[in-house]
Amino acid sequence: MLGLMQEWPLLLHRIIDHASRQFGEREVVTRSIEGPIVRTNYRQIRTRSLQLAKRLTRDGIKLGDRVATMAWNTGRHLETWYGISGIGAIYHTVNPRLHPEQIAWIINHAEDRIVFADLTFVPLLEAIAGHLKSVERFIILTDGAHLPKNNLRNCVAYEDWLAQADADFEWASFDERTAAGLCYTSGTTGNPKGVLYSHRSNTLHSMASTGGDGLRIDVTDIVLPVVPLFHANSWSLAFSAPMRGAGLVMPGPKLDGASVYELLENEKVTMTAGVPTVWLMLLDYMRKNNKRLSTVKLVAIGGAAAPLSMIREFEIDYGIDVRHAWGMTEMSPIGSTGSLKASVADLPRDEKLQLKAKQGWAQFGVEMKITDDDNKELPWDGVKFGHLKVSGFAVTSGYFRGEGGNILDADGFFDTGDVATIDPNGYMQITDRAKDVIKSGGEWISSIDLENIAVSHPDVMEAAVIGVPHPKWDERPLLIVVAQEGKTPDKQKVLDFMSGRVAKFWMPDDVQVISEIPHTATGKINKLKLREIFKDYKLPTVV
Ligand code: AMP
Repeated sequence: MLGLMQEWPLLLHRIIDHASRQFGEREVVTRSIEGPIVRTNYRQIRTRSLQLAKRLTRDGIKLGDRVATMAWNTGRHLETWYGISGIGAIYHTVNPRLHPEQIAWIINHAEDRIVFADLTFVPLLEAIAGHLKSVERFIILTDGAHLPKNNLRNCVAYEDWLAQADADFEWASFDERTAAGLCYTSGTTGNPKGVLYSHRSNTLHSMASTGGDGLRIDVTDIVLPVVPLFHANSWSLAFSAPMRGAGLVMPGPKLDGASVYELLENEKVTMTAGVPTVWLMLLDYMRKNNKRLSTVKLVAIGGAAAPLSMIREFEIDYGIDVRHAWGMTEMSPIGSTGSLKASVADLPRDEKLQLKAKQGWAQFGVEMKITDDDNKELPWDGVKFGHLKVSGFAVTSGYFRGEGGNILDADGFFDTGDVATIDPNGYMQITDRAKDVIKSGGEWISSIDLENIAVSHPDVMEAAVIGVPHPKWDERPLLIVVAQEGKTPDKQKVLDFMSGRVAKFWMPDDVQVISEIPHTATGKINKLKLREIFKDYKLPTVV
């Protein structure tokens, strides 16, 4: 027997409808590409999204069509998401930090019909437009006065284009499983693969990931997503902030420590989210300029491991709660967050901090398991590590156009490519990406653990560990560090600092100081590039 409750499809435009009705005056503040701070609110965002949907329809965009956005976090970018998905078309976020060839490949693979782009990316698009066969028109997210001369096909300034339609429009109606968004993984090997989110998965993921134990957003919050909309759905914030009635502060293109600090303070932000490299810059700025944050209550850190020293600094030095989050593009993206369960509430402060440095526990809607190479499940003892596999309502079931074939195991679980432990309290800890783990004498060494310890040395700003071939042990760890400004890390002193904090055989065989560690398009340490840089390097332990 079926229940007798209403069919109420979980469609994304219902979120902006709700925000407009309940929190219509709630501000959406943007540091615009043109420069000034621009203020709008959820009511206006909804009106303009409806206008956008109507105007897109006039351009012939329909259910299932892909429309690309290549833009920073701004109010205009937000409108495009709601307008595109509101007619059943698919917003395809393109990461502008990728190599231009890769961008062209992705747009062609998605067969995007229209590209919305920020002013910043006009030159980049001009360089590749000749290869973009499916794109009928480029809409630059600015007004007529700021539109530069360019040779992009059917190019128009967003404000001029939008003004050609009014907001007298009804959202389309369709199945909640309809595709809403497309985001290609930043995979470092092979071609990028498209993850296709549905209205249902995005809505449920936004609800599930932002509750009190998750990103913890409520109606009193003002949220600043440093994490870009083009990085895995901006961790849901473009949906969850309006859903929960929180204000939004969109940082635009300026993500350096001083600019982020200025917005956090001026706009009285209470919650913010981003990758560790962003927080390295912010903390560095605050330290050097003797600044504090007066309104921020919660910082979400994810996308790469948050070092214990960073968590400690936020929590102890600045009194700001940290939510360490783990996830991936394939998971919409949040898989786990690390709030403290009742079972660990009485631990001493230092142990609690150490627990927060783990990647947290899976919330409702995500099931996790760790397995050995034969897909046999491993115990949750916090010691045995294995392949981390996940299943849930916002986990991919296959890549766009079937790339990669069947990606689920016999039980319907997706292999994340991460290696992890899970402790008896359910806290998961990432040991490494499976391809980054260092295999030494038949044992595995976690590069993340070593990096976390090295980065807590006062002279070290950033650290990366890679495996280097060794004739006897297969691989041995090489520690690569960037110095804190004005400091010169002494190799032996860094190693002495680490010794005793890790098993002896984990100790790096050498330390190299470089001026900058390369990062990927999503802000992770680019180990592939580091391995390339150090391909001719010989360990001193190899005679
Ligand atoms: P992406 O799809 O670009 O978001 O990358 C996902 C991958 O980033 C994961 O599979 C992990 O390897 C890594 N990652 C994300 N969050 C964390 C975290 N908190 N700690 C360690 N690694 C992380």
